[in-house]
Amino acid sequence: MKINYSCDYCGEPIDTIEVEQIDEERLGFNCLNLEERQDLLKYDELTNSLNVLSLCDRCIEELGLADRVFPLNTKIIH
Ligand SMILES: [Zn+2]
Repeated sequence: MKINYSCDYCGEPIDTIEVEQIDEERLGFNCLNLEERQDLLKYDELTNSLNVLSLCDRCIEELGLADRVFPLNTKIIH
């Protein structure tokens, strides 16, 4: 299954990764509460992919959030 990360703030695509199965812990999804899941994770049945909203490096910097840890930032995965 493909996981597409895009920026919640500017809408730019960040990264796409391919996984055999969704490992919630590895992907940081287990850190999200139900509301955040509904907001940030969108499953696309047509393409069998998961669209995840995160923040790109530029926006993190622009927003002055560099010190904060984002559970869904792809850096944690790579
Ligand atoms: Zn952005």
